[in-house]
Amino acid sequence: MKKRLPLWLLCGVMAAGGAVCGAQSAQDQLTVDAKLNQELVRLGGQLMLAGKAYEYDEHLADDIGPRLTGSANYEKAVAWAEDEFKQMGLKNVHGESWTIPATWEPEGVATARMIAPHEQALHLVSEGWSPSTPPGGVRGGVFYLDDASVEGVKAAAAKIKDSIVLVDGDSLRKHPGQPFGKLFDALDLLEGEGARALVLGLGAVNNAPSMVGVTDFKGTEANIVTANLGMEDTLLLKRLLAKGPVEIEFSFKNRIRKDVTVHNVVAEIPGSGDNGEYVIVGGHLDSWNPGTGAQDNGTGASSVLAVAQAIEALGLKPRRTMRFILFGGEEEGLVGSLRYAHAHAADAGKCVGDFVSDSGAEAPKGWYVFGRKDEADAVTVLKPLLTGLDAWNTTDSGQFTFSTDEGPFLVEGIPSFVLWTGVEKYMQLHHKPSDTFDKVDPRDLNLGVAVVGMTAYAFADSPTTLKHYSATEVEDELKGIKSLDEYKDMQAHGLF
Ligand SMILES: [Zn+2]
Repeated sequence: MKKRLPLWLLCGVMAAGGAVCGAQSAQDQLTVDAKLNQELVRLGGQLMLAGKAYEYDEHLADDIGPRLTGSANYEKAVAWAEDEFKQMGLKNVHGESWTIPATWEPEGVATARMIAPHEQALHLVSEGWSPSTPPGGVRGGVFYLDDASVEGVKAAAAKIKDSIVLVDGDSLRKHPGQPFGKLFDALDLLEGEGARALVLGLGAVNNAPSMVGVTDFKGTEANIVTANLGMEDTLLLKRLLAKGPVEIEFSFKNRIRKDVTVHNVVAEIPGSGDNGEYVIVGGHLDSWNPGTGAQDNGTGASSVLAVAQAIEALGLKPRRTMRFILFGGEEEGLVGSLRYAHAHAADAGKCVGDFVSDSGAEAPKGWYVFGRKDEADAVTVLKPLLTGLDAWNTTDSGQFTFSTDEGPFLVEGIPSFVLWTGVEKYMQLHHKPSDTFDKVDPRDLNLGVAVVGMTAYAFADSPTTLKHYSATEVEDELKGIKSLDEYKDMQAHGLF
């Protein structure tokens, strides 16, 4: 058996002597000694058998309800989470405020109907961050835009003028992999081309709305009235349009408030060491409104609270500080986590890992590691423990790289992880009215929470840590997982 010199000690000595300690060394790995192993077993057991995530999620989803960023419900969830963290005994519990350009909440129920070729009620709601319809509503002929790109809009300009423009999944698939920013660029042009409204036919089966939001990753109000139409109604309109003109009308009222203060919630378990290093355990607290956000992201937010609660309940003292963060504004484009990362950029070098949950509560498989082999190796170090949870795998899929709150930390070179779960059932309810507490399986939820807690705690307590990536290494990483275009696009939109 080989003995490994504790290089972090050596680094300290060399640094004191004025020498530069290289970023890359044998310390760039996770180390689980006997004490840490024992603590991880206790933590995993606590979370599986006495974890509180299910109870927290019930409160968020059923008692508080939908948590649109900046809404009264959202701030109620903020106050509740702060109170819970304080009761657990966490330190430095506080809200960190930032300003969202606009908040959005529907007032009352939308009305909608097809007028021609025959009269029929339509299943339509306001899309998130849409302005209200003008007095009397919107009425006009429907034009189906089959290519939702800047080029597609320009090519169809004559038909867009004075029309209600319908965009559906097929219009988006015309340019597969088109970054969100490019889609927003295209939709932004519709108002200038004289469209009366935009109707997104991205709803789900049974004519249920599936919210997407039409902001530009910044939480601004859309520049055009935008509705969300049910799937079956969308398909009907498309079939009828193939035969002749279709006319519809609809009306809804939204409450828009400008420049609203929103809070991220931050709480800490201080590290027993004093070198300022920390891990982040995070997830977003906000949700969409048609359901109650039980799994997007009630379960993820509850995981953050439950991990903190279990560590406190066991009296564990990690070497590094564990910082628990609940973000707002994720659904409007990672706004809360971007603001947090920007505000704490000077401190980013001390963050040894961030661990985010945001894919519902199906049984976990392991972790998204975004192309970082050292992260996959770190999960392998934990495999003997995670095997018991059937969740020791990693994936390099770049499908969700900028889909949740790890993105702003990943681009700073921080080792970043997102819990990898099954999403088969989750995608059926994602952003829909059916995202409610009755779908949550407590055992599957606890499995995921245990994976998050054990992995984050291991990073907080391991004598060694992974390195930070340089800007070039981050770009190489993103290129390897086919997420570089999306990153560049977000940079071009002023987000990073
Ligand atoms: Zn989410």
